[in-house]
Amino acid sequence: MRFVGQSLIIIFVLEFQIAIEIEIKIDHQEIMAQQLRMITIIAAWLLILLTGIYVMVTRFDQKRTDKVRIGIRLTDDGQRAIAQQFLGQRKDLSRAGYVEFTAGWKEFFALQQAGLRPELVVAVESAQLFDQGFHQLAQVDSAMEYLNQAYPMLTTLQTIGSSAFWGLPIRGIRISALRTGHQQAASLLLTAGHHANEPVGVEICLHLMNYLCRNYDIDSRVKAWLDAIEVWIVPVVNPDGYRLIFSDSLRLIWRKNLRDNNGDGRFSPDCDGVDLNRNYDYNWGVAGEHSIQSNYYCGPSPFSEPEIVAIRNLTERNAFSLHLDFHSAGEKVLYPASIIAAPKMVALAQSIAGQMKRRSGTDSYQIAPLYDLVGQCSSWMFFRKGIPSLLIEAGDSYFPSRSDLSAIVEQNAKAVFFVLDRLLDRADWAAQFQASSAENSE
Ligand SMILES: [Zn+2]
Repeated sequence: MRFVGQSLIIIFVLEFQIAIEIEIKIDHQEIMAQQLRMITIIAAWLLILLTGIYVMVTRFDQKRTDKVRIGIRLTDDGQRAIAQQFLGQRKDLSRAGYVEFTAGWKEFFALQQAGLRPELVVAVESAQLFDQGFHQLAQVDSAMEYLNQAYPMLTTLQTIGSSAFWGLPIRGIRISALRTGHQQAASLLLTAGHHANEPVGVEICLHLMNYLCRNYDIDSRVKAWLDAIEVWIVPVVNPDGYRLIFSDSLRLIWRKNLRDNNGDGRFSPDCDGVDLNRNYDYNWGVAGEHSIQSNYYCGPSPFSEPEIVAIRNLTERNAFSLHLDFHSAGEKVLYPASIIAAPKMVALAQSIAGQMKRRSGTDSYQIAPLYDLVGQCSSWMFFRKGIPSLLIEAGDSYFPSRSDLSAIVEQNAKAVFFVLDRLLDRADWAAQFQASSAENSE
């Protein structure tokens, strides 16, 4: 307001000067100069007006992005009373079993303090992520449900487990023209979203499930794959974390699940959560972070987290021929490598990396050994289960622009298509990797 006040004074003084000058000299030149000044004044006014609008809009925007959508299950009158006190007269909760409203993070934590269990329902204010083309958890879920309804002969939708904090379902979709239990040529597992702040992999999975279902009837290459191979896709291994990143405030940093490490019954961003790709039982915690505050906290024990127990159980129920685990970022394909690397895994990583062009320039994704002393998924898959498994660091940023995102998804889909072509020849595939896995077992 002070800024506007000062501007008003300056403009007033300017106008006063002009009035005096007009009386003193009136000639042609002076009239032109006067017109010029008037134009300047109008421009100044416009500038002030626009600045004011800009300031108002950005301040409003800042406030807006701090808002989250909160939902609370109300199971008894005590909880209803607390929620009612909080909401005032906005809603009558005397018989409510559930209430949903928009408020700030401050309110979210205050509700936790009061003994309720508020949940982030949906990201109402994550315009940026939505604009960039990312899909939030509810959208991923409904895409899977839609595909399951639209392509019942091709898909099986399964809840394979539930998350540590909110108990959200972890879902997997099986895509194949072969009946469940039917002997298939090969089985491919794709996972993404171990890490909450790596939504690129989720988009790759979403794209692939859509592509495979929609093209089975019209593309002979897709038909050949799905007639012989089963593809399992788990797009969001960490639904708690994934839901959280769409609430804006923590989205750039949150990597872990939402394990209640300090056992206080609520989510404490400073000390809760386990890094799900540090919790597998292969060299678990050898060089891992054991502090709960760490972004890479490996958890209290191997497989302490229900999210990856779900992956373990799925793996034990199926005979996967290959596993690809999507992460970001780095444009790399990482292969399990104990003391020495299995040459065939290196070759596989190289051939897959060669399918993917890097965003800047014409060269392809690079390969590198996984750091195998920290309980990662691909290490466990390969060394414990004998399943060739690679970690793909897709793209060169965590939250790429919309056009970069679709280019990254396209490159990674190409790599998966390449793999599906290789998998069609089962005999060759199985022989080559069982050998390399055995030669490298602990
Ligand atoms: Zn990751």
